[in-house]
Amino acid sequence: MLRSSIPRFTDRTDVFSWGRVRREPQRLAHPTFADQLSGLAVDATRPSRLATGLRRSYGDSCLNGPGLLIDMTGVDRFISFDRDTGRLVAEAGISLSHILQVVVPQGWFLPTTPGTRFVTLGGAVANDVHGKNHHRFGSMGCSVRSLGLISGDGARLTIGPNDRPDLFAATIGGLGLTGVIEWVELQLVRVGSAYLDVETIPYDNLGAFWALADESTVSHEHTVAWIDCMSRGARTGRGVFTRANWASDGAYTIHSDRTWKSMPLELPGFALNRLSVAAFNEFYFRLHKMKPRHQRQHYATYFYPLDAVLNWNRLYGRRGMMQYQCVVPPGSDRAVMGVLLDEISRSGQASFLAVLKTFGDVASPGLLSFPRPGATLALDFPNRGVETLALMARLDRIVADAGGALYPAKDGRMPADMFRRSFPDWQRFAGLKDPKMNSDFWRRVSLDD
Ligand SMILES: Cc1cc2nc3c(=O)[nH]c(=O)nc-3n(C[C@H](O)[C@H](O)[C@H](O)COP(=O)(O)OP(=O)(O)OC[C@H]3O[C@@H](n4cnc5c(N)ncnc54)[C@H](O)[C@@H]3O)c2cc1C
Repeated sequence: MLRSSIPRFTDRTDVFSWGRVRREPQRLAHPTFADQLSGLAVDATRPSRLATGLRRSYGDSCLNGPGLLIDMTGVDRFISFDRDTGRLVAEAGISLSHILQVVVPQGWFLPTTPGTRFVTLGGAVANDVHGKNHHRFGSMGCSVRSLGLISGDGARLTIGPNDRPDLFAATIGGLGLTGVIEWVELQLVRVGSAYLDVETIPYDNLGAFWALADESTVSHEHTVAWIDCMSRGARTGRGVFTRANWASDGAYTIHSDRTWKSMPLELPGFALNRLSVAAFNEFYFRLHKMKPRHQRQHYATYFYPLDAVLNWNRLYGRRGMMQYQCVVPPGSDRAVMGVLLDEISRSGQASFLAVLKTFGDVASPGLLSFPRPGATLALDFPNRGVETLALMARLDRIVADAGGALYPAKDGRMPADMFRRSFPDWQRFAGLKDPKMNSDFWRRVSLDD
């Protein structure tokens, strides 16, 4: 068989994660065929390596400054798809967007999806992503039936829930640290059309959110709230709750990847300030009060509203942004979300609407998976250096005291003690980590140079 030549690693200064805060040069290779992957394992000068996808992770978990990055986006082919059973096997660098264009017309959808379709299958598995239907289907890893893993010394393995289960559990949500995921076998879900029946309900405070969440997780497959993180006092947590079920009739129309806008430049830092953000949030809240409560929406409109503007992360200027996403366990979540939102609102640092959602109790299969029962809050902060770091440290204390955790995919600065406290299986994971794989994230949280 003719083997493809192994691509070279080159120094790059234009490789960032989604938050655009970290700007260290990276050394990266871009393979286009799976048979090139084992060969990329060898580079004596820079021993550690890491696979990456579309780098929609916000912080440093998809970066490897001192080592090598293997950009998987060229290894992106379908291997097989059974339109009767919905069993899909595809190379890990394929995007969720591409998968949907093929499977939706056959009446299938991803078992769960994050808020952007511009992520790779491998990246979605390595972060064990969750979506608005976590309370029904759990995280992405719950639907992975097997996967191909290439270890740091080039060996190829097939693993699954019953086939080397320890390594499988370390690889789901394992942040690329157990090896390169070459391909994934995924069980898709049947849908009755490409459309959802969506209810949009503006509500006035956190109390109203909990009532809506309680009733909606029973009646609806998808639930989420956009909240105004600038509101305070009796209005803390006010927002717009959406809940949806798949429509059982309608066409299987696919989305188009012709986005209608792209953020051309990084905006100047002063464009985002307390006044402009508060005005936007007020406008958004009032707009939804005027809109009809029931609507039929295409999956792209419902799941991926932010994908309409390519590169929207440039809005935050050259210093970039940091996202903070935490989960707080049931019991303390109701009180703690109020405390977190008061702290954020008082700081005046948060940007646009935040996202609040309840997770169900479907257990994630990964040792380092973030989703767990409770409520999760996610929001963006323009990077203002020490001021932002100090606020996040205050939020960390509140989350840690409540027994919560931060999402590694959204993180660029979680201290090692916070990581160890909130991911109790980290030592088991460390024993299964491939010694040749590493990331800036892991060096930070494992205190490993
Ligand atoms: C607008 C937006 C909305 C989002 N919404 C959500 C959400 O609702 N829920 C959620 O869970 N996340 C969400 N995210 C985060 C995003 O879905 C995840 O970070 C996703 O995993 C990124 O995939 P990627 O292909 O960009 O991977 P990358 O960011 O490039 O990499 C992610 C991790 O996977 C590893 N990796 C990538 N490919 C491979 C491979 N082939 N083999 C081994 N390891 C690999 C990397 O080393 C890294 O640790 C959102 C992000 C954005 C920008």
